[in-house]
Amino acid sequence: MKSGGKKAFYIVFGAAVIVLALALGAYRVFNNETVRQFTAMDTLIGVSITGRESAEAAGEVENLIKALDKDVYSRHSATSALSAINRDGKGELPEECSEALELMRSVAAKSGGAFDFTLGAVSDLWGFGTGKESVPDEAALKKALEKSGFEKVKTDGTSVTIPHGMILDMGAAAKGAALDRIRSELGGYSVKRAVISLGGSILLYGKGEFRVGIQTPGSAGGEYFALLTLPETNVSTSGSYERYFEKDGVRYHHILDPGTGYPARSGLVSVTVVSPSGALTDILSTACFVLGAEKGAQLCKEFGCEAVFLDENNGVTVTPGIADIIEITDENYRLR
Ligand code: AMP
Ligand code: MG
Repeated sequence: MKSGGKKAFYIVFGAAVIVLALALGAYRVFNNETVRQFTAMDTLIGVSITGRESAEAAGEVENLIKALDKDVYSRHSATSALSAINRDGKGELPEECSEALELMRSVAAKSGGAFDFTLGAVSDLWGFGTGKESVPDEAALKKALEKSGFEKVKTDGTSVTIPHGMILDMGAAAKGAALDRIRSELGGYSVKRAVISLGGSILLYGKGEFRVGIQTPGSAGGEYFALLTLPETNVSTSGSYERYFEKDGVRYHHILDPGTGYPARSGLVSVTVVSPSGALTDILSTACFVLGAEKGAQLCKEFGCEAVFLDENNGVTVTPGIADIIEITDENYRLR
C-alpha cells in the first residue's frame, strides 16, 4: 500500500478506538504533531494534527467543536439554537446548520421517512444515554410519534418553525456537519494531515492514504473486522452497539424506526458511509441503518456516497466504489 512513507491507520467508530491507535504510537511517524482528546457532543473526541501550526489548529478545532455543541446542536444545552426552537416552536439556525437541516430533510424524503430528525420526543421516552433508560409504554410512544413527522417542519432560509410538542433532534447529523466546518477551518492553518474523530464520524484531511478500520461490534479494545484504504474524505459509522440498554434479555438500541418508535430492525449491525461531505456520511449512515442493506445501497447511490453494511450474520455488503479498497481482516466475517 502506497502512502508516501507516511503510513498510519485509524479505526473508525469512536474515539475510544482512535485513542487505542494513538496509544500504539500510530502517529509518531509524524513531526509537529498535536494530539488531543476530550468529551463533547455526548461522545469522546480525538484530534490528531500534523504540520507547523498543528497546535494552533488543534486549539481552534477543540474550541469550535465545543461552541457548535453548546450554541447550536445540543438538545441538552439550554442556550443552543436547537433548544430554543424546541422550546419556542420557532427560531433561527446558523447557516451551516440550516444547510444540514435541508440535507436531513432531503434524506428523510428520499428514504421514505426511515430517516426522521423530528423524533426527539420519542428518543426522550427511551432515555438513551441518560442513565435512566426504560422501555416506554405503547400509549406514550404513540402520542410522541404523533408529535413527530419531518413534513411538518417549515423553513424559510435560516428560520425554522415546528408544531407544538415536536422536538427536533440533529443527533444523527451534528457530528458530520461539524466535521465539514472543521475541514474548512483547517484550510486556514499550515497543517499537513489531520484525523478528527467525533464518536463514529471521522474526518481525514491531507495528502496520502489513510487506513481506516471498521470496528468489530461490541469490542471494547478497538478490534476491527475490515480495513478501508482511503484518500482524504469523511467516514461515519452507525451501529446498534454504540448506545443501548438491555431489559429482560432484550437489547434496545438508539436508532429508531420512525414507523414504530422502536429500535430499527433491518438485519444490520452497522453501516459505514464514505463521502467528501461529512454531514452526508453521518445522515446516511443512520438512514441506511434503518433502511437495511439493499435500500440503503440505493439511497447511497442517489447521493453519490459509498457504504459498507455489516449484517447480523457477519456478512459484509459493499457499494461498487468500496469493492477494491476494502480488506476483510477478520476470518469470522465475509464479503457477500
Ligand atoms: P448516529 O449515531 O449518527 O447513527 O445517530 C443516532 C442518533 O440519531 C440517535 O441518538 C438519535 O438522536 C437520532 N436518531 C435515531 N433514530 C433516528 C432516525 N430514524 N432518523 C433520524 N435520526 C435518528
Ligand atoms: Mg449519523
